[in-house]
Amino acid sequence: MTMMNDNMQRPVMLIVDDVEINRVILAQFFKDDFDICEASNGEEALIFVTDHPVSVILLDLVMPIMDGFDLLARLKRDDRFRDIPVIATTARTENDSEVRAMELGAADFITKPYNPTVVRSRVHNVLSRLENEWRKLEQTAQSQEIIDMRRRIELDALTGLYDRDNFCRKAAAFMQMDAAQKYVLVFLDINYFKVVNDLFSVETGNLLLRSSAAFLQSVASGVGIAGRLEADHFALCLPQSALNIEAIIAGLDGVVQSLNIPQNIRFYAGIYPVSNVFLAVSQMCDRAHTALNTAKGRYTQRFAWYDEKMREDEVEEHLILRDMAGALADGQFSIHIQPIFDIETGEDYTGEVLVRWYHPLKEFIPPARFIPIFEKNGFVARIDRFVWEESCKMLAYEKETFGRVIPVSVNLSRLNFYDEHLVEYILGLIKKYDLEPWMLKLEITESAYTDNMHLLIDTVARFQKEGFKILMDDFGSGYSSLNMLRNMPVDILKLDMRFLEDIQHDKRAQAIVRNVVNLARDIDMEVVIEGVETKEQLDFLRSIGCKNIQGFLLSYPMPKEKYLDRFVHKPEPLKV
Ligand code: C2E
Ligand code: CA
Ligand code: CA
Repeated sequence: MTMMNDNMQRPVMLIVDDVEINRVILAQFFKDDFDICEASNGEEALIFVTDHPVSVILLDLVMPIMDGFDLLARLKRDDRFRDIPVIATTARTENDSEVRAMELGAADFITKPYNPTVVRSRVHNVLSRLENEWRKLEQTAQSQEIIDMRRRIELDALTGLYDRDNFCRKAAAFMQMDAAQKYVLVFLDINYFKVVNDLFSVETGNLLLRSSAAFLQSVASGVGIAGRLEADHFALCLPQSALNIEAIIAGLDGVVQSLNIPQNIRFYAGIYPVSNVFLAVSQMCDRAHTALNTAKGRYTQRFAWYDEKMREDEVEEHLILRDMAGALADGQFSIHIQPIFDIETGEDYTGEVLVRWYHPLKEFIPPARFIPIFEKNGFVARIDRFVWEESCKMLAYEKETFGRVIPVSVNLSRLNFYDEHLVEYILGLIKKYDLEPWMLKLEITESAYTDNMHLLIDTVARFQKEGFKILMDDFGSGYSSLNMLRNMPVDILKLDMRFLEDIQHDKRAQAIVRNVVNLARDIDMEVVIEGVETKEQLDFLRSIGCKNIQGFLLSYPMPKEKYLDRFVHKPEPLKV
């Protein structure tokens, strides 16, 4: 029987019908899961199957030249074709043709006009039924070789679970077999798995994966499907009634403990309640993964369900991706500037330029929402260039109109560092607007350092050589803040805002902030503290000698016209 091509390409579906529109409709239903081939009569179909491996045939019974009955009879008489499942397509009125087709060996039939759900589930049922029969046959087969070969193709070599492709196929077939049931798709991931390989050994890592896989297989055995999608990502497809997520997590904790691996290396789970069994399983996995990400990092919550809010976010992400390029061309992006004060002199010290997107339908979309999406698809590089150019235009305007320039800092997404002409590009802007490098400070987020240390160190040095000042944004949020300070002499540190949360009561946070400020002073760096919202925070910062402060307490970000008027044209004294 030809269920799949040996080389694991997509299965081939042959649609035989003399009416083109019928072929087009059916092809539409199945194009995501099969390679579709078409024939307009029995004779063409027979020629096709002689030369090509076919997984399933959809066969119209009433056709000129060689009709469906004739073809069916020939296929079933021939050893080469006997096992290809044939599903007859009939009009509602042709009751006795259905009986005749089944007698001739059709696996099932579908009636016109086609209902996509019914059609798809019939085809999938037929295929899974045959697959089950194949499996039974396989179990009793004499030839161990065939079994081994099939396993090698479908199963992940390390753990013996289905690999991603096969998990998706098997899970789809499993759910579609009884589409009326409620199912869940569970995505499991080991937090800090990389640490296991680094700290122990690759063998320990592999042992952890194999033991976890064996446990998950025992969970799925008889009730569902287990797979290893990639690396330390596992998935389960189960009827919702069979899911006991606490027990699964406890079992996996047991596996980790039995290998004497530290307790902070642990499994997290995301659960997607399947609402439509015909949705692509890879998409179900993505949704479960989205849910998982909300649980990860929290110590007490080990799993999360995909919910309505996540669905809305997904819709919004889709909208953002759809609209971004048009929005840039359409002038929906603009810059706002947040002044940063020197609280000793009470004067404006500099400003930070922040991008704003006013979408005609959604109105304001915060950058925290769209920047991460733009970072994934690279569009952030275009937005950043837009922001730098707008900033330079503003500085040129200050120079020309007021005869003085207050420097601003702009944000550089980590992606920019992969552009080898980055330094030249920004230098080009400075020349184009007749500015000087000290006027445009560059903020680099600390996490960029972990991406590609050497590239970053090199680029920062080139910028500094040209006279640019570099700020390290969100300092203290990453894993190697101090190492980075040693290797990359930036000019200004911007402390991560989270250190300020609750600083009045948190003695440890106070000590950290105080010492970071001292450390910076020791190595001749300036410090900017951002996110200052309360008078108490400001008093504390003042008491430890911080000068440069940014935060809602002193000023919100504002449109450039307002900023120019209030801080460049007629500077307002600081009121706090
Ligand atoms: P960031 O670079 O850390 O920018 C500071 C963020 O803190 C800004 O949020 C600012 O409005 C906010 N903020 C300022 N003072 C306070 C305060 O007192 N309390 C609180 N809670 N927040 C305060 P915004 O404008 O929403 O930007 C968020 C993030 O989006 C930025 O964080 C930055 O990572 C990114 N972003 C913004 N504009 C750009 C841009 O032009 N390019 C790139 N690549 N990223 C940008
Ligand atoms: Ca920033
Ligand atoms: Ca920041």
